[in-house]
This record gives sequence, C-alpha cells and structure tokens, in this order.
Amino acid sequence: MRLASWSWGGRDHVGTVGADGRELTPLACPDASRGVLPLIEALARGEGLPPPSGARLPTQVAVLRAPLPRPRRGLFCVGRNYRAHAQELAGTVFRDAGDAAAAEQGWPMVFTKFAECVTGPYDAVRLPRAEVSTQIDYESELAVVIGRGGCDIARSRAMDHVFGWTIVNDVTARDIQQRHQQWDLGKNLDGFCPMGPWIVSADELDGRATRVRGWVNGEARQDARTSDMLFDVPTLIETCSRGITLLPGDVIATGTPAGVGMGFTPPRWLRAGDVVRIEVDGIGHIENRFA
Ligand code: MG
Repeated sequence: MRLASWSWGGRDHVGTVGADGRELTPLACPDASRGVLPLIEALARGEGLPPPSGARLPTQVAVLRAPLPRPRRGLFCVGRNYRAHAQELAGTVFRDAGDAAAAEQGWPMVFTKFAECVTGPYDAVRLPRAEVSTQIDYESELAVVIGRGGCDIARSRAMDHVFGWTIVNDVTARDIQQRHQQWDLGKNLDGFCPMGPWIVSADELDGRATRVRGWVNGEARQDARTSDMLFDVPTLIETCSRGITLLPGDVIATGTPAGVGMGFTPPRWLRAGDVVRIEVDGIGHIENRFA
C-alpha cells in the first residue's frame, strides 16, 4: 500500500496510490491538511482506511505534497550512519566521530529537524541569502515512519512498529551546522526537508538492503544500500524510543550515504538552478530545484 497527500482542484486530498504510481484514489478523510497522519493513526488503532471519496485521478495532474506535511513533532534524524560518509566528513562535521569503527561501538548520533521545514517532493527549495549561508548541501535518505507507537521498544520487536517508508532530503547549511555546536540552526532553514513522494507500507518493503541514490543535475553523487548502515533501522527505533514514547506517524530519517557536496575537494555546494533527485528502490523518487 502507498499513501499520499496531494492538492488538486484547489483542495488538499489524501488517499492511496496505484502500484505503478500513476493513479491516486482519494479517501474520505476529514482533515487532509495533516496529510496521511490521520490514516496512519486510524490503522494504528486497528481501524481500516476510510472509504474512497471520489474518482481516481492520474498522478500527473495532481501536485503531490509531502505525505506528512507537518510531522507531529518534527523528525528524528540520524547523523553519521554510513561508514563511508563518516569517513568523508571526518574532521569537519564529525570532528570527534570520523572513526567509523569507534562510532560503531558507541551510540547513534541523533538530532531533529523541525516539522515546519518539510516541503513537497517536487517543490522548489529557496536558497538562503549569501549572508546567511553559502554552503548548502544535500543528503539523500530513507526515512522510516512509525505505525504502532511505543516506549522502550526492543530491537527484536522494532519492525512490528514500522508503518512504512518514505524519502527525505536532509538539506543542510554546512557553515551554520559547524558554527553553533548544535546542528539545529544548520538543519532547519525554511524548506530544508523535501519529503515524499508517498509512504510505502512495510509489507511492501523491509528497508534492509534498499538502494539509496542521489543525483545533482543528472550527475550521480550518492549510491549505497541500507545494509551499509552503521546502525540498522531496528537499532535506531530502539534508540529513539528509550524513555521516549514514539507515536504513530513519527519519522526517523536514517542518515545519508557518502557523496554529499562537502565530501568533495573542493566542496560542491548547491547553486541556484541545481536540481537534486533522490531515488530509493521500492519507493520512487523526489526531485527538487534549488532557487
Ligand atoms: Mg542527514
């Protein structure tokens, strides 16, 4: 099952997506402004999906929104979760943690993105003024969406709590990220979290060896499988739920592979007009122009 959120005919809608991605079926959901969150909550309560509320629609005539346009409390995000990425940013973003072998013995690095920086899968992302940042970078990521909530979820049961998967671009202002000790300011500029194009449910994708790829202007930059993660998804769920009750619709962005702009010498920051495309096998792609 694929759940999506879209605008069409001057209104927001939520519903299901056909297996080939070409058709949308709207469902009778009273509050489409929250995206598919009410649907995930209903399923977590053991209820079914609401009935269809109208005719099927070709995907291409709708404007897809982020499936969760305002995640209820922002997104949990994981830093330094692919070995090669830890190495490429050693001594910069990961000052004390570039050593992947040592990192693996420790704990996942977790930060948050604000709900308000989420934007649609094909929306333009506005670059900040040069006085604010000149070092804008992309991060292609698989994101896991929680279904049934829970606290202190054991790694062995973690996948029972997964509703499904989506794609995010964890856009980052590197200069700001490194300037303030904490990452919040550099990770949360307006529009810095493109998400979508929809959520694929866990019965269709297990996320264990899923290919994550990223391109800038058609040039391949990132290509890895989630099996290369330092901390796998069950470990991330166990970690994020330690003493914190995860809720239906919570999102954990699982970290980015090597190949970000900062990893090049010299670095390759995003410029106006650049198009970043991220593809995750089994889900689809998002594509955002930076303006
Ligand atoms: Mg990231």
